[in-house]
Amino acid sequence: MNPEELEEDYEERPSFNEEIDSAAIEDAVRSMLVAFGEDPQREGLLNTPKRVGRMYPELLSGYRTDVDKLVNKAIFNVTYDDMVIIRDIEYYSLCEHHMLPFIGRAHVAYIPKGQVIGLSKIPRIVDMFARRLQVQERMTRQIADFVNDLLHPQGVAVVVEGLHMCGMMRGVKKHDARMTTSTMLGLFRKSINTRQEFLDHINRGEAPLRI
Ligand SMILES: [Zn+2]
Repeated sequence: MNPEELEEDYEERPSFNEEIDSAAIEDAVRSMLVAFGEDPQREGLLNTPKRVGRMYPELLSGYRTDVDKLVNKAIFNVTYDDMVIIRDIEYYSLCEHHMLPFIGRAHVAYIPKGQVIGLSKIPRIVDMFARRLQVQERMTRQIADFVNDLLHPQGVAVVVEGLHMCGMMRGVKKHDARMTTSTMLGLFRKSINTRQEFLDHINRGEAPLRI
């Protein structure tokens, strides 16, 4: 793998090397409370700015994930080339248009070409991209590209299902709150049979997505 390639996101935005400014978030939340007409001094709200200031670094930790640490020593050489599928990976993200949650599950598959990654790493890769301000389409693509750049497999497939609070909570439901996005690379794009095998697998026994 080429770490520079994987970290290009970081280089585009050098400010991500610095910690999130929790104090600035606290100030902003205090201003928002005042803008709502609330009293930031009342007991229930007194510590809210501080809580929110501490919360965002966790919700947005994906910008600062140490990629080398994440994949460290978890890539193995193999001779088999059967499809590897990890389905129903829970994720929690924030839509970048409203900063409201969208949550759901991701299904990731790849067909190795000499290398596999430890199974437990795939959910962490999903997390790395989910814990950012996102749009679901881009997150899906980023997960697929990352696995593709990391393992150079014969193909990668990612399907993401999401429920978007910005669609569900707001009065004017302009877009469907439930969304499915997918990215198919390599064999999954070229071969209908391969793609169908993956889709059959993730649809088997699937319960509808709900909160
Ligand atoms: Zn939104």
